[in-house]
Amino acid sequence: MSDAPIIELRNVQFRWSGQSSFAIAVPDFTVHKGETVLLLGSSGSGKSTLLSLICGTILANTGHVSVDGTDLKTLSGWSRDRFRADHIGIVFQQFNLLPFGTVLDNILLPLQFAPKRRHRCTAPKQTAMDLCKSLALPQEIALSKASNLSVGQQQRVAVARALIGEPPILIADEPTSSLDETAQSSFLNLMFDQVASLGSTLVMVSHDPRLGQRFDRVVQMDDIVTIERHAT
Ligand code: ADP
Ligand code: MG
Repeated sequence: MSDAPIIELRNVQFRWSGQSSFAIAVPDFTVHKGETVLLLGSSGSGKSTLLSLICGTILANTGHVSVDGTDLKTLSGWSRDRFRADHIGIVFQQFNLLPFGTVLDNILLPLQFAPKRRHRCTAPKQTAMDLCKSLALPQEIALSKASNLSVGQQQRVAVARALIGEPPILIADEPTSSLDETAQSSFLNLMFDQVASLGSTLVMVSHDPRLGQRFDRVVQMDDIVTIERHAT
C-alpha cells in the first residue's frame, strides 16, 4: 500500500434536490492506493450517496472530490462518465446485469466506454474467459443469457464486469446483502483474491459489521459523515 491517496473528499457538502430533504457533509475522507475499506452504516445513512459522490454520478455542492488525482468537478459530464468507466469497477447491490445480453456481453460492457481500460485489455474476450475461469464460472455459460443464471453466477459475472480492464478502484455497494452466508463468503473470497492480485483499491459498503475483519480499515459512516434532514 502506498501513501498516495487515490480517493479524497475534502469539505464536501451535498444535498439531493427535489423532494428529498437529505443532505450530507463529508469534511475529510481519504482512501489510499491499494487499501481495502469497509464502510458501515445503517440504512438511509447516506452510504450509496457517498459512493455516488466518489463515482462522480453526482457532484458535490461544495468542496472537492478527487479520484486518482483528478478533481471530478473539473470534468464535463461526458468526460466524467469516461473517467469513471476508466478508473472504477462497480458492483451494484442488484448486480444490474443486462438480462438479454450474454455473460460475455455483460462482462465486456464497461470496455465500450473506457478507452484506457480497453487499452489495458488487449484480448478482451480471452480476458473475459480467463476471469470466468478464475471466478469458477463454467466456460460453457459464456454465451448464455444473463437472465438464465443463478444468483450465485450473476454475482460472479458482476465481479468479472467490475474487474475487466483492471480498473484501479473497485466500488461495491452492499453486494452481498441478498446472499446467504456461504455465498457471501465465497463472493468475498473471489473479490479479495482479485484485488490482491491486481493491487486495486476496494471500497465496499455494508450494514454487516461481521465483514470487517477482512478489510484493512473499517469506517463507520457516523465518523466521517454528518447528516442533515430538513422538514420540507
Ligand atoms: P444508504 O445507502 O445508506 O441506505 P442512501 O444514500 O441511499 O443511504 O440514501 C440516503 C437518503 O438520501 C435517503 O433517505 C433519501 O432521502 C436520499 N436519496 C437517496 N437517493 C436519492 C435520489 N436519487 N434522489 C433523491 N434523494 C435520494
Ligand atoms: Mg444504499
